[in-house]
Amino acid sequence: MKKKIISFICMLTACVTLVCAAVCFSACGPKNQLLEENIIDDNYDNYYEIFVYSFCDSDGDGYGDLNGVTQKLDYLRDLGYTGIWLMPIMPSPSYHGYDVTDYYAVNEKYGTLEDYENLIEKAHELGIKVIIDLVVNHTSSQHPWFKSALNYKKGLGTESTYADWYNFATSMKPNYHQNGGVWYEGQFDSGMPDLNLENTKVRAEIDNIIKFWIEKGTDGFRLDGCLYYSSGMSLSVEFCKFIKQTAVKYNPDAYIVGEAWDGQLIIKQFYESGADSFFYFPAAGNGDIAKAVNAKSALQVWKGMTAITEVSGDYIPAPFLSNHDNGVGRIAGRMARDEDKIKFAYGLLSLFSGSTFTYYGDEIGMVSKNATSDPDVRVGMLWDNDRTGMTQLPPGASSEYIFDGVAEQLKDSNSILNYYKLCNNARNAFPALMRGSAERTVLPDANILYLTKTYKNEALNIDQTLKIIVNLSDVSKKVEDVEGTLAQSICVSDSIKFSGSTLTMPKYSIAILT
Ligand code: CA
Repeated sequence: MKKKIISFICMLTACVTLVCAAVCFSACGPKNQLLEENIIDDNYDNYYEIFVYSFCDSDGDGYGDLNGVTQKLDYLRDLGYTGIWLMPIMPSPSYHGYDVTDYYAVNEKYGTLEDYENLIEKAHELGIKVIIDLVVNHTSSQHPWFKSALNYKKGLGTESTYADWYNFATSMKPNYHQNGGVWYEGQFDSGMPDLNLENTKVRAEIDNIIKFWIEKGTDGFRLDGCLYYSSGMSLSVEFCKFIKQTAVKYNPDAYIVGEAWDGQLIIKQFYESGADSFFYFPAAGNGDIAKAVNAKSALQVWKGMTAITEVSGDYIPAPFLSNHDNGVGRIAGRMARDEDKIKFAYGLLSLFSGSTFTYYGDEIGMVSKNATSDPDVRVGMLWDNDRTGMTQLPPGASSEYIFDGVAEQLKDSNSILNYYKLCNNARNAFPALMRGSAERTVLPDANILYLTKTYKNEALNIDQTLKIIVNLSDVSKKVEDVEGTLAQSICVSDSIKFSGSTLTMPKYSIAILT
């Protein structure tokens, strides 16, 4: 699938007509409208993370499924997403799927391989990439490989091909579990035995798994648990390199994003693997962006931006606000459930270069009832206030919804959802917003962030410089001596006024000037 500088004009014409009518003359004024897209065929995308179980149920059995995701691809593309990450879709005994029993099939709750191929085909037609969770640090303890290996170690079976695919011991070691007198490594828990990733046969199998999914049209992988691949950092990094090199054998454009849930120094080391991206945890949850919103601090945003740039080097940064297990709940909770702050946090995220990741439901301000509960962060997507077709709760979850569903928010030009759409559109319209290198002009007002972002791409004849001015305070501010053309404004309330060389910026507003 190729995404050349196509502008998606056909699709957008319909939306622009509808949304312009709704948004152009909303509280944020005439500049608060969707712009023509300028999509570039590279691995910078607005990604959307989907927990299939809780997203959209196409057949009424109470579980979200792949056909449900396919039904919502138009919705996601209309919102400005050009990539989706599906959390584990392979067969698994757990509801979350992070313990796989078959790497060459689709969880039957979610559908079939045919459904998956259909999803990919529709996604590619719309210009959406599909990456999936690749969970190979460990398998399920129910995986036939592990059962065979364990039986052999226990003296119950004949020779097993898989005896050295896992890490066994004859006595207790840290993070080892016992079964019938045999000890095995399981960094996460006893149901998730760690694969021996230094074993060449295991690597050959993983090569085959990657080939299998790429041949189905998969555009890349999200690597689960990179920190745990090995007890030594260098081997874990080397294994990420193996994955990236394997993936590009089968698709030169394959996008790999890894989860190394740690601080800047560790994430930076993982980038040495050559994998495209690693999630930038220090900006998420209660990190840089939440801190910047709460402290109204331009410096805090700048610190986050310079740190992620330093960590990612020449690779693609991967900032995000929430995910399925960061331990502090969704961004709406981190923003004290304040609608303006929830919007603005995403506005700030959208100023970061890289591929941003949105966790499903964050675009409508979904909350986790208990911030520290993983199941609560994974409850059903609220498609409408009547809860039509709502998926069943994950085991142990309780849910709470404090904002309208998708259907209602689509109709409300001031909704969180339409704010997300505006931010994604700006990233798709301005290559420099998504990819540019940033410089800061320090202003006397600590609440005003003044950035210049530049991006050059000679092959595509792009040479773009943007000025981005942000009012982080909760009151209106004037910024003097501003030159340029106000190309887009992203506001939570009143409009930005640009008169002479003075910008009058309402609270939590973002001006993009060319
Ligand atoms: Ca279903």
